[in-house]
Order: sequence, then C-alpha cells, then structure tokens
Amino acid sequence: MRLSRYFLPVLKETPAEAQIVSHRLMLRAGMIKQASAGIYSWLPLGFRVLERIQQIVHEEQERAGHIPLLMPTLQSADLWRESGRYDAYGEEMLRIKDRGGRDLLFSPTAEELITDIFRSYVKSYKDLPLTLYQIQWKFRDEIRPRFGVMRGREFLMKDGYNFDLTKEAALHAYNRHLVSYLRTYERMGLKAIPMRADSGPIGGEDTHEFLVLAETGESEVFYDSEVTDLTFGDRAINYDSVEECAGVLEEFTSRYARTDETHDEAVFSQIPEERRRVARGIEVGQIFYFGTKYSEPLGATVQDGDGNKVPVHMGSHGIGVSRLLGALIEANHDDKGIIWPEGVTPFHCGIVNLKQGDAAADAACENLYDQLKTAGLEPLYDDRDERAGAKFATMDLIGLPWRITVGPRGLKNGVVELTSRRTGESVELAPEAAVHQVVEIYRKHP
Ligand code: ATP
Ligand code: MG
Repeated sequence: MRLSRYFLPVLKETPAEAQIVSHRLMLRAGMIKQASAGIYSWLPLGFRVLERIQQIVHEEQERAGHIPLLMPTLQSADLWRESGRYDAYGEEMLRIKDRGGRDLLFSPTAEELITDIFRSYVKSYKDLPLTLYQIQWKFRDEIRPRFGVMRGREFLMKDGYNFDLTKEAALHAYNRHLVSYLRTYERMGLKAIPMRADSGPIGGEDTHEFLVLAETGESEVFYDSEVTDLTFGDRAINYDSVEECAGVLEEFTSRYARTDETHDEAVFSQIPEERRRVARGIEVGQIFYFGTKYSEPLGATVQDGDGNKVPVHMGSHGIGVSRLLGALIEANHDDKGIIWPEGVTPFHCGIVNLKQGDAAADAACENLYDQLKTAGLEPLYDDRDERAGAKFATMDLIGLPWRITVGPRGLKNGVVELTSRRTGESVELAPEAAVHQVVEIYRKHP
C-alpha cells in the first residue's frame, strides 16, 4: 500500500474522551471512529488488524478440528423463551420488534440458536463429537460502554459450541479449547493467563477466563507469579488425545490464578508471600462447560449406543476478537505510539522515503516495495511529500514492527536503514539484505 493513496486519518491531538492509552492510540492512529456510544466504525487500518486477528482465530480453531459457520445477529425471541433466557438476560439484551409485531433480539451470544441447529439435524451419537463456531458481531447494551473497543456495545466475538455424548467427552472439548486458546493468544504475541472464574448468565459448572495483565484491566485478579512463566510455544499437540489436552490443562491451571469472583483468601495465603500477586487484567476469552443446561430445555438429544435418547453435553467458548485490539495495544505501546507484535501487524514493514522526488531514493523505494510484495509481504510505503520527521511520527504512531528508511545519503554508500519499532535499534544494510532480513523475520510468524 502507498500511503499517498491510503485512507489513514491520523489525529495530531490527543482525543479528550479517551481515558486509556489503547483507546487514545486507536483514535489517533485512525483505526476506529465512534458511531454512537460503544459502537464503532472500523477504519482501514483498524479493520486490517481485526482481520489478522480473525485469521489467527480461524486457523487455530480449524487446527483443533472445530468447524466454522455463520449465524444471524437478529434472532427470534421464541427460542430464547424456550431456554428461559429471554426474561433472565435483563437489560443488556437489545430487544426489537419487526413490522409484524414479532419479538426479535440482537444476539448477545448464541447458545439457543446453535442448539436449535443441532437438534434439527443431529440424531445419533455417531455424529459426535461436534464443535461448531462462528466469528460474528454481538450486541450487549452495556450500562457503561467505555475504553473504546474494550467494552463496546457492539463487538466482534468468536463463539464456539461443543456437542458431546458424555460429560467426559465434553470435558475433553473444554480442555481442547483451553489448548487452542493458549496457542491463539501466543500467536498474537499476547500472554493471556487462564484463571478460574464465575460463569455469569451463561451458567455452568466449569469455567476459565483468559486474562491479559494490564493496569487498565477491569477485573481484579489474584495469582501465583509462577503462572506468568508458562508458555505453550510451538510444541506439537494431538487435539484428539484426551491425555495430552488434559496434561496441558493441568500444567496451566494447577497453580493459583483466579478472578475476584472466585478468589479464596485462605487458599491464596498458603502461597509463599513473594509469589503472591494481586493485579488487574483484561478478559480476552472464556471457556465454559455447562452440561445439559441448554440441551435439556431445548430438546437437543441423540440416540446413544443402546438406543436411548439422551441430552447432549455442551460447552461454549468465546474470544473477544474486537476487545483484543485494545488488549494488544495496552500490552504493546510506548509514548510514541503502538508497537504491533509481528503476528497481528496491519502491514509487515514500513518504507520511509526521506527525499520524495529524488530519483535514486524514489527508485530504491519502489524496488524495496516490489521485492517485499513479491516475497508475499504487505509493505506500507510512505511516499508522501512530507518532512522526514512527520513520516517517522506516523510510522511510530501506527506501530509497524519494522521500518526501512531510504535516503540519498545512504544510497550513495549502497545502504538503507532497517529499524525495529520495539527496540529502536537500526542497522545499515544493502537494500536486498534488508528485504531478506524482513522476510526471514516473518517466516517465523506465518
Ligand atoms: P465481561 O465480564 O467483560 O462483561 P463477559 O464475561 O460477559 O465479559 P463472555 O460472555 O465471556 O463475556 O464473552 C466472551 C468474550 O467476549 C469475553 O471474554 C470478552 O473478551 C468479550 N466481550 C464481552 N463483552 C464485551 C464487550 N462489551 N465489549 C467487547 N468485548 C466483550
Ligand atoms: Mg466472560
């Protein structure tokens, strides 16, 4: 992309309405624009990151054997009456009437609809296990939408639902989701810690939330500092293996890590004092096992091996896709702007032409731009007729992890400069070597 032809409405001023750094930076970097309270337009740069995050979520879900589908945002109230949640959900549910006077609602989550799909088609245990998921907009009429995309009213969520014959099988699905979520967040360059939580209006017996530690987080959390040392890395995992998935769950959840809802001071105080941490966190995902809570009232049954009709065991599993942008920025920024991890960056590499109109500089930039694109990367070339300082400020603000700077002086010596946004370190390299280095970096972040 050439910046002169892109739509990147960056703001010089710090917007007064934004209370936390991620919200400020998303507005300043021209990523989002508020349409009304808690509802945002995703401008091109923000939309690119949102798409990257979705792509990682899809890839990791499919790796775990989960199947994508898409359900409508507007749903009939009748289904929600069957489960009893039409009344129970309260004011957060946006209720709508169509012209025929029928009650609709904007889906805050989709257990009812997915269970209806399941009961319409699946009749035998032979079709299990089954996990279906979507990435779809949700609406919750939050009392206090705030912090930009962190607590929106309209927000993008990955919601997945497992259907299993037995409790044991459903617990395996739970563990499988935990593993796939660990991988998902790590690929985004984010440390999200699974913590024992409370199930809220979804209901259920077992649940973990994934929290990103940040001072601006809305949840108070209590944990053993050893949990922050754990990483999943790129180890191979067989998602069909009950033992392997249970082993990962054990490894990542055996130490104390809880949200305030489930915190137990007596147990916490048993941990050696130097390892006890009280902090704040951003909830970026949650997994639930809730058994037959929805399958019983909605009649989602299958025939088991003995020919008996039994309700299926279910769980649901959510990732806050749009909230993740805020969480990522809270965890990756400095006073100049955002610092995107390679896994989610909107463009792989910036190219800054220090002297637009200089024949050698223009030609070198065009070359770099073509070579990076040929290598399958997406560069952002700042080809505007602007001062160098303004170009650097824009690149720093929008946070591309790598920048190649091209100027007539360097070119006389046959070099350009490759700079890391995170460390600020620069090296002088021949243009081909700079391309090669950037390509190598991204080979590790498919
Ligand atoms: P919270 O406690 O923050 O209100 P929740 O527990 O009600 O969230 P879930 O039903 O678990 O939310 O939804 C799955 C994920 O969707 C959450 O982990 C969170 O990342 C995201 N999410 C929930 N509510 C919002 C919101 N209002 N704005 C943006 N993301 C949200
Ligand atoms: Mg939750």
